[in-house]
Amino acid sequence: MQNFQTLFRTFVRSFSHNFNPVTLRPQSVITLNKAFLHSTKIFCRRLETRHIGINYILTEKFRHRYHYCINAHEHNALSKNVPVIDWKTLSFYSFHVIPDSYLPKTRELLLSKFGEMGIVGRIYIATEGINAQLSCPLEQLDNLRKFCDQELKLENVEFNFSTIHVKAFRKLNVKIRNQIVSDGLEKGSYDLSNQPKHLSPAEWHAALSNAKTSINLIDMRNHYESEIGYFENSIRQDVDTFRDSIISMNKILEGKQSEDIYMYCTGGIRCSKAGAILLSNGFKSVYVLKGGVTAYGRYITSNPSITSLYKGRNFTFDKRLGEPITNDIVSQCHTCGEPCDTHTNCRNKTCNLLFIQCQECRKRLSRTCGSEFCLRLVQAWDEKFGRPSGFDDVKPNYQCVYDHVHRTRPKLVIERLGGTSANVPSDLVEMLLEKNSIIKR
Ligand SMILES: [Zn+2]
Ligand SMILES: [Zn+2]
Repeated sequence: MQNFQTLFRTFVRSFSHNFNPVTLRPQSVITLNKAFLHSTKIFCRRLETRHIGINYILTEKFRHRYHYCINAHEHNALSKNVPVIDWKTLSFYSFHVIPDSYLPKTRELLLSKFGEMGIVGRIYIATEGINAQLSCPLEQLDNLRKFCDQELKLENVEFNFSTIHVKAFRKLNVKIRNQIVSDGLEKGSYDLSNQPKHLSPAEWHAALSNAKTSINLIDMRNHYESEIGYFENSIRQDVDTFRDSIISMNKILEGKQSEDIYMYCTGGIRCSKAGAILLSNGFKSVYVLKGGVTAYGRYITSNPSITSLYKGRNFTFDKRLGEPITNDIVSQCHTCGEPCDTHTNCRNKTCNLLFIQCQECRKRLSRTCGSEFCLRLVQAWDEKFGRPSGFDDVKPNYQCVYDHVHRTRPKLVIERLGGTSANVPSDLVEMLLEKNSIIKR
């Protein structure tokens, strides 16, 4: 730690009028002026090249004051200096009214309490409720439960645990949104309290096992999620957002109001809403998988004698980009077509294409999507900066070339870019490199 202390003190001294003198220990909380946020981030990156890892979590933001919880460790001496954290990856959600005026307060509360507990993840709050995906240090799990019960008044909320437990998020993010699940419908056009029947994984498994092949079984996830894993005989919708899946669902189920409808998603939240929409539109019996594919994965893992009706991986919106439910590989590498179910993002962060790529193609194409633009950019980048570990992402200050839809559809991107080469002027790569002499992440 000594090396780190010295380095950090030098840094603090150079901005001394903006800092209270601090002795930085693991988990220290420092207050930064907004103006120095950027320099601090660059400094932290520099520390990383000296084998000092530093995680900083924004715990509070008030006017120009940013409170950071800083956690530092030496990469090569992890076990000596910092106890290895056992993580629990989980999600929870609740549809309940949070008055508009309470949202900023709730956000601050979540940032400070979760920050204190060292929790990382992504949380959305809206007037319709809360949706949280978290990695929580195991030792803080009881405190998290207590906090949810007592301060958030969510006594009945179930923690939906993953089967793979890692630190799945880089930092803690709490966002105020119009809706926790964006449906694109007019306010009041359906009644959320009109909840479908939530089947436990065991009940769901029994129901599907006994059902005929003509069952109305609908996957409420996006196309790139159901591409790598799905329930057999399910209708997988070719959609990019939940909003689109509602439109598509209404078309698929038209005239089937009196039939049994089964639906599933990753953790259950999307089906809570989609089910309520169907019931509000005259459907009589709608069954959803409680806790989604995540809960079904736990059920299959703890009951090895049962043959899973779900094949493949469960896509997750975190660093893991999915967890296996069975060993079946139901998808192909988007580059070479070999069986593969590993999602990855193009190394050029201004492209950031989300696609499936096998290890061989990944290596051959320097972890890019393979477009000439991305390949040339990362190769030029590596030539200029080398490739120290931890600096893998190439993030020049350049607007992303794709919108949300194109970001997950490699075929559309290739069409749009005209084969394998980007419609970007050939000298742009050099210009971008010139303009961005420092690494931004
Ligand atoms: Zn491949
Ligand atoms: Zn790319």
